[in-house]
Amino acid sequence: MNNRLTFIQITNEIANYLNVIAEVGSKGFDCSEKSLEIIDQWGNSGATPVETLATLRAELDNCQRCNLWQNRKTIVFGDGNPHARLVFIGEAPGMDEDRQGQPFVGTAGQLLTRIIHAMTLKRNDVYICNILKCRPPQNRNPLPGEIDTCSPFLKRQIKAIRPDYICTLGAFASQTILQTDRPISQLRGRFFDYEGILVMPTYHPAFLLRNPGKKRAVWEDIQKLMGALEIKK
Ligand code: SF4
Repeated sequence: MNNRLTFIQITNEIANYLNVIAEVGSKGFDCSEKSLEIIDQWGNSGATPVETLATLRAELDNCQRCNLWQNRKTIVFGDGNPHARLVFIGEAPGMDEDRQGQPFVGTAGQLLTRIIHAMTLKRNDVYICNILKCRPPQNRNPLPGEIDTCSPFLKRQIKAIRPDYICTLGAFASQTILQTDRPISQLRGRFFDYEGILVMPTYHPAFLLRNPGKKRAVWEDIQKLMGALEIKK
């Protein structure tokens, strides 16, 4: 008799469990990736990410995961609105950023600030960060190993912010986010998808300082972003 009762209880529990799975959108207990994702979200209200920029920054701590820590003065994590609809992603901090601990504050950063103002936005309306959080010596290009080591933090930053749009600045940021080796000249000017976020690659402001003739192309790309964000000119 006891065995029968236990059997009925277990059967009821399984039935309830399957009902809950159905209610939250799973087609069944099929161990599919989608169902496992749904189960993973239980207890997480299904919406708000547990990880915030603050917890992520705390985890990064005094990072020594790649060799760039040896020459940096400051980790340049990122700056701006933690709930921004638009995130700008560059390559790596330069000398001014390394000193001040803020992204895009040097000459190229001032140009980016002018672009943001031309969009009728303020820096605090957007979020600005880089693929690498530490300055490469002599501002050399990031090495593949450095990008592989540091970019997971960038991807988690994006997840924490959950923007609608990303503007990748230059080849390294665009290629890293879009997982491609195509040149920036072929990527810029149209939207790509990154995990449900629309990505507009464009030239890096530092490249614009050396090639002012490309400003027009960047402004065209930025206007497409403004149109998508429904910013009136
Ligand atoms: S670049 Fe990134 S991974 Fe390398 S030390 Fe700095 S924070 Fe750490």
